[in-house]
Amino acid sequence: MKEAGLLLRDAELDGAGRADVRVTGDGVTEIGHRLPRRPGEQVVECRGGALLPGLCDHHLHLHALAARRRSVPCGPPQVTDHAGLAAALRDAAPDEHGWIRGTGYVESVAGDLGAADLDRLQPHRPVRVQHRSGALWMLNSRAVAAAGLATATHPGIERDPRGDPTGRLWRADDWLRTRLPPSRPLPLDEVARELARFGITAVTDATPDLDPAALDAFDRAVAGGALPQRLHLLGVPLGATATGPRVSTGPYKIVIADSSLPGLDDLSDRIRAAHGKGRPIAAHCVTREALLLLLAALDQAGPAFKGDRVEHAALVPSETIGDIARRGLRVVTQPGFIADRGDDYLRDIPAEDHRDLYRYGSLRAAGVPVGLSSDAPYGPLDPWQVMSAAVHRRARSGTTAGPAERVTALTALHAYLTPPEDPGGRIRKVAIGAPADLVLLHTPLAEALRRPSVSLVRTVLIEGRPVSPTPPRPG
Ligand SMILES: [Zn+2]
Repeated sequence: MKEAGLLLRDAELDGAGRADVRVTGDGVTEIGHRLPRRPGEQVVECRGGALLPGLCDHHLHLHALAARRRSVPCGPPQVTDHAGLAAALRDAAPDEHGWIRGTGYVESVAGDLGAADLDRLQPHRPVRVQHRSGALWMLNSRAVAAAGLATATHPGIERDPRGDPTGRLWRADDWLRTRLPPSRPLPLDEVARELARFGITAVTDATPDLDPAALDAFDRAVAGGALPQRLHLLGVPLGATATGPRVSTGPYKIVIADSSLPGLDDLSDRIRAAHGKGRPIAAHCVTREALLLLLAALDQAGPAFKGDRVEHAALVPSETIGDIARRGLRVVTQPGFIADRGDDYLRDIPAEDHRDLYRYGSLRAAGVPVGLSSDAPYGPLDPWQVMSAAVHRRARSGTTAGPAERVTALTALHAYLTPPEDPGGRIRKVAIGAPADLVLLHTPLAEALRRPSVSLVRTVLIEGRPVSPTPPRPG
């Protein structure tokens, strides 16, 4: 059926003038005043509500988001202490293979967890609990046995002095999956609807080293319509390319694991290999040491390469800001972490480093493009909450972390309006010829920016089609 199109009447554009916007097919075809309604065209009275390009979340993990929906929360805000964790694991519904999967664990709940600790909480079923950072899995004894950790050789398997696995497994997501009962990639339709409800019409999936099954699952989710959002992939292996009309291959994700830093030569070889294939890199970098190593490895790998990005840049010493700018690097940051777990950072990180946390304002001032993102499910997904966090940088306790790094709500919104291939760069506009990936707000922009909130989102279009809104999940 040919779509008759949509006439968005009296929308506010660019936070300034008002106009009518015509959407035909999948694009914006006309902008003007008092545009005549065409036969069959649906009219939306915007009443001066802001019409924005759809938001792009520049770093998240779609399949982990889908898995999170089927998992037991093991960390704040749902679970905050040992008794809460015990209840959560005791009452958890196992999956079809009898496993219990927990997520979001952090040491403030019940300290460092190993197999013996988890056995006391849930001895009857295999249990695996993921750390909030995503870098660590903790397995009980049944899970350790089922995954065959005792005889396996993965370097991430933590062992006690006798050589027995402790149940703690670092940076071994893909490997662990191969040791678990086979599972089909989870459907993405619910996640896609939640993204749409927030106004997100494009995402960058930052999961490293996507295997053929994961790539295939993405292709099918996009082609079959389960995932209407545009999809930019950082985990496409070197030499491969993503296929499909709305799927693109992004920079090549390199994880500089803080649990075991790579050697300088190894890292610069990997960077050179990516650049040699025409791919910029996207380096996961959360410690000062990782950042210094990355900068040295980039220098060794060759001249600046357009599009190289630093993911997280959680700790940026002031003396490195100039280097980041000189190298033409861009940063994809997550101020949502400050709102979500800022108190933990402020407690665990030396006071003199607090100003280095998730820098934003100082990077921009130095000319570094900064893209915004959630890192969901590890950080809060709601982009409006992330924008607020960029503006206020307040932890749950009310303490402000790095007040000098605050930016305006407009700057934060603009970071979400930059396209997947240019995070923090060009700001997309509602314009003739642009794809009709649009977000209509209930209010004018100035009002929305005073108190960014998902409740302001009225209608979301992807390729000219309204995407069915579902209420965001609480929490
Ligand atoms: Zn991530």
